[in-house]
This record gives sequence, structure tokens and C-alpha cells, in this order.
Amino acid sequence: MDCVFCKIINGEIPSEKVYEDDTCIIIKDIEPIAPVHYLMIPKKHYAYIKEATVSDAMELSFMLNKLSQIADEIGLEKGFRLIINQGDDAGQTVKHLHVHILGGKKLSWEA
Ligand code: 5GP
Ligand code: ZN
Repeated sequence: MDCVFCKIINGEIPSEKVYEDDTCIIIKDIEPIAPVHYLMIPKKHYAYIKEATVSDAMELSFMLNKLSQIADEIGLEKGFRLIINQGDDAGQTVKHLHVHILGGKKLSWEA
């Protein structure tokens, strides 16, 4: 499958990894839009949050709980924002579900 995040997960494309376990990785975004900009990526490929099964959704909630546990260690002790882009209106470019993690400054809020 020609998926950039699957290639990162299996090591074909290098990335700056800040966390990894059996189910997910957290890497630095290649084009950060905040002082801290990570991507949390489930190892299982599915394109959209809308495709997530109940079991995928449970895995996602475990991932988010893990993030809460390690947030301070990865530079997010003052807070962070999570974003999942779904489809064209949100500007989703990589069709492998991922959670943007933004932080490292007081973030503004506009859409
Ligand atoms: P989307 O718009 O699909 O929600 O976000 C995709 C994100 O993946 C973008 O922020 C983009 O900068 C990031 N990205 C795309 N290709 C690569 C890559 O090869 N390595 C890393 N680290 N990030 C990538
Ligand atoms: Zn993939």
C-alpha cells in the first residue's frame, strides 16, 4: 500500500519518533505549525475516523490515555490541543488516521 504513514511505521521512511508501543507511534510533524507539533498514528491502517470500528475506537481511546500519561515527558506539560482532520473540508492530506498534537505555546483559536 502506498501510504506514507505505513512506510514510516515499518521504517521505510525515516521520522523523528518521540514514542512507540505495540499499537501506535508519535512522531514530529515534518511541517510543524506550532513549537510542538506531533502526530500520533495508530499502527493499524485505516483512512478516516469515519472508518473506525468499535475496536479501533477503543484502541484510539487507549492511545489518548497513553498520551495523557507521557505528555509531560514530551514537552506538553503546559497543555496541548488534539486535532483529527476528516476529509476534504478539513484538509486531510494523508489518508491514514492520525491525531495532530499541538503545543509549546499559548495557541490561538480560529477556523
Ligand atoms: P493532515 O492534513 O492529513 O491531517 O496532516 C498530515 C500531516 O502529515 C501534515 O501536517 C504533514 O506535515 C505531515 N506529514 C506528511 N508527510 C510526512 C512525513 O513524511 N513525515 C512526517 N513526519 N510528517 C509528514
Ligand atoms: Zn497507512
